[in-house]
Amino acid sequence: MDLTTLTSAIRGAVLTPGDDAYLEAATVVKGPGSPAAVVRPADAADVAASVAFARDEGLVLSVRSGGHDSLGRSTNDGGLVIDLRSIADISVEGDLVTIGGGARWGDVAAALAPHGLAISSGDTTTVGVGGLTLGGGVGWFVRLWGLAIDSLVSADVVLADGRVVTANETSEPDLFWAIRGGGGNFGVVTRFTFRAHPLPDGVVSGAIELSPDADLANVFTAWRDVVRAAPEQLTTTYLGMPAFGEMPASSQIVFVWAGGDVDSAAEATAALLDIPGVTGHTIAPMPYADVLMDEQPDAAEVGSPAIAMVDDNGFAARFDDELIAELAAVKGELGETVLMVRLLGGAYGRVAPEATAWGYRDTEAWIISVAFYPEGEVFDTQAPRARALWSRLDPWLAGMYGNFSSLTDPVERMYPPATLARLRSIKAAYDPANLFHRTYNIRP
Ligand SMILES: Cc1cc2nc3c(=O)[nH]c(=O)nc-3n(C[C@H](O)[C@H](O)[C@H](O)COP(=O)(O)OP(=O)(O)OC[C@H]3O[C@@H](n4cnc5c(N)ncnc54)[C@H](O)[C@@H]3O)c2cc1C
Repeated sequence: MDLTTLTSAIRGAVLTPGDDAYLEAATVVKGPGSPAAVVRPADAADVAASVAFARDEGLVLSVRSGGHDSLGRSTNDGGLVIDLRSIADISVEGDLVTIGGGARWGDVAAALAPHGLAISSGDTTTVGVGGLTLGGGVGWFVRLWGLAIDSLVSADVVLADGRVVTANETSEPDLFWAIRGGGGNFGVVTRFTFRAHPLPDGVVSGAIELSPDADLANVFTAWRDVVRAAPEQLTTTYLGMPAFGEMPASSQIVFVWAGGDVDSAAEATAALLDIPGVTGHTIAPMPYADVLMDEQPDAAEVGSPAIAMVDDNGFAARFDDELIAELAAVKGELGETVLMVRLLGGAYGRVAPEATAWGYRDTEAWIISVAFYPEGEVFDTQAPRARALWSRLDPWLAGMYGNFSSLTDPVERMYPPATLARLRSIKAAYDPANLFHRTYNIRP
């Protein structure tokens, strides 16, 4: 392999082992990789040249935006990484926002605030626009504006054959459909264009703290009833966390109200304060950018070989009393694990399931469970137990969000059969040799 062919073909940088910036560029949140080279492209032409180089040399190809992939697929060993953080510009024209494929959501929120605009992203500043958007993107305005993909109007994509195309409703419509939920399977998105939404006065954000001993079934039922009656400006998440180091276990309902009117937010959430077991609460106006958490899990902790993770997630059409009772019982038996429940509905559910590659729109609750165990004997006995407990929820759950899964091959679970069949045929048309496989892989 002669890397000078690549170096001389592009304007951006090609980093190889020994270069000062190589180690940082080869490392993602999950930990370090050891690729033969990392490209920091200057533009789409550089990306196209890099894709062609990887394809012609038979190199494993990774595409990196924010680097948060749960399995570390945005780096690799011995292959080529396209590190899109060098294409991270954000420009605003009216309500249309064009964002480089390697930008991070915290930067987007901060750049849009002076324009009185926002896009529903995720909940963390450091997560990349690339990976989150291509997988769907569940954020703090999901009930008001839907998923991140529901605000996407166009994308510039470098294909496996080196062509650079624009995908939108009229140009490459199949590709545009597939990249709205199909992950990084179809090409490298160098630019996303979103239609942003007005948010002139920021948000009101708060948390309802619950005693760890609170009756979870009661909590969930009361919370669900509040949200069912609330305006779509209100998006809420239940978060139960085990003790971590010096941090005690916690149980809380976190909310964001789209708008700066504290009284309206307080009125919409007042009934949450009556839930038995509430120990305190906060509520405050703030810029949307301040709601996003900065934390980036430390690669040394999260990727450490000493601790392994078992996780699962699924969508429930109705957060009904029977599901709630079983969920509370399962959580009680799981013990100290992470449980997150996000209530969806609203604008999220009004998009037709066949309109994008995100099939599960008839969803009131999205339920996520994560447990951490020391690797070895403890993991080997506890992980099957955790999986067995979680499977008791199967009668109520369908689908899975791939961006929150550490399964190596989740696609059969992620998509309804018709969605997966269409994704596979589009994959066969755009990437028949499966060059873009460092993702939850949809095989052609
Ligand atoms: C702390 C944390 C918080 C999170 N919070 C949320 C949340 O609130 N909502 C939510 O929906 N998700 C959330 N996620 C999940 C997140 O959406 C996924 O981890 C996502 O893959 C991260 O994207 P990234 O660009 O940072 O990751 P990367 O590791 O850079 O990318 C992941 C994969 O996406 C593909 N990819 C990335 N960029 C491009 C591109 N421009 N073109 C083509 N392919 C590309 C590649 O296949 C790559 O392997 C969270 C994850 C973490 C770790």
